[in-house]
Amino acid sequence: MPIITDEVNRNANAKKYRTPGTACHRRPRNAIYLNPSNTDKHEMKKVEIVWQYIKKKKQVLTEAETKGCMKCGIDIGYDYEYCNCGERLKKLRRDIVVLDTGEIIEIETDKQRGARHHKNITVIYV
Ligand SMILES: [Zn+2]
Repeated sequence: MPIITDEVNRNANAKKYRTPGTACHRRPRNAIYLNPSNTDKHEMKKVEIVWQYIKKKKQVLTEAETKGCMKCGIDIGYDYEYCNCGERLKKLRRDIVVLDTGEIIEIETDKQRGARHHKNITVIYV
């Protein structure tokens, strides 16, 4: 895939996310944000996963805020209230988003919590 297209995809995906608690600040790319509410194992897994993507020259966001549709399993963006399917969007904070593909990765310690995610979401257990 040409480099220009990669960047177009990344920018389109990055637009859906922001830094938590801010009105519009884009989340810096390839920065690992550690969330003190998560367990040690959870955070170390995040570092491990992000490192694998960075090595492959991919771009990621961590702990990025968005609004997504729980029914469709997609993130739409914090400027929107409803999905095209009619569902009201939910405010979400994503563990990892791969900007090149739009893949959403959630790290979970609990099987029941993990099972609540839509099939579109990659769930990694620690
Ligand atoms: Zn929807």
